[in-house]
Amino acid sequence: MNEDFKKILKFLEKLPGIGKRSAQRIGFYLLKMDENEIKEFTNSLILARESLKICEECFNYSEERICKVCRNENRDNSLLCIVEEPSHLFFIESSKVYNGKYFVLGGLLTSEKEEIMKERINKLLEKVKKNELKEIIIALNPTTEGEATSYYLYDILKEYNKKITRIGLGLPFGSSLELTDPITITKAMEGRKEIS
Ligand SMILES: [Zn+2]
Repeated sequence: MNEDFKKILKFLEKLPGIGKRSAQRIGFYLLKMDENEIKEFTNSLILARESLKICEECFNYSEERICKVCRNENRDNSLLCIVEEPSHLFFIESSKVYNGKYFVLGGLLTSEKEEIMKERINKLLEKVKKNELKEIIIALNPTTEGEATSYYLYDILKEYNKKITRIGLGLPFGSSLELTDPITITKAMEGRKEIS
């Protein structure tokens, strides 16, 4: 195995949900790909990454300073849904069940991203103080870290006297929004319950 190929495998293993064996299968598949196709793929990846910004309002990925969801005047400003990652926002959006605004936390309490998260929580509190929110929906993964972070958020948000709800009922423990189909996300969103 040459060094470049080893590098590719090491990289592929880092991707979510890809183990050593899958990395090898994908690696060999990539080697067989048409050269032009590979060029097109890598160029698109570089271009997508270069044009990517982070929305100043909600921390979603955006092509502009403020993302499309935040710019959309038809969305309900009284609802704020807190998610861990932009990809989770994307999956909730694709279920079309929600028409409010979002806030991307950027990590969970016990993850290595804790520092980013603390900074974002300050921004979140600014938002909660400023906005006429009727409901804050906590939509974190039903995992140990997700639970811990949800309760932490509830604890700091409850003094603002907003309705605070949580999705996740119906989602199996340990599951991820990324791997959940739109129907289950819809049910989890519609079945959200107030935390008390
Ligand atoms: Zn935004």
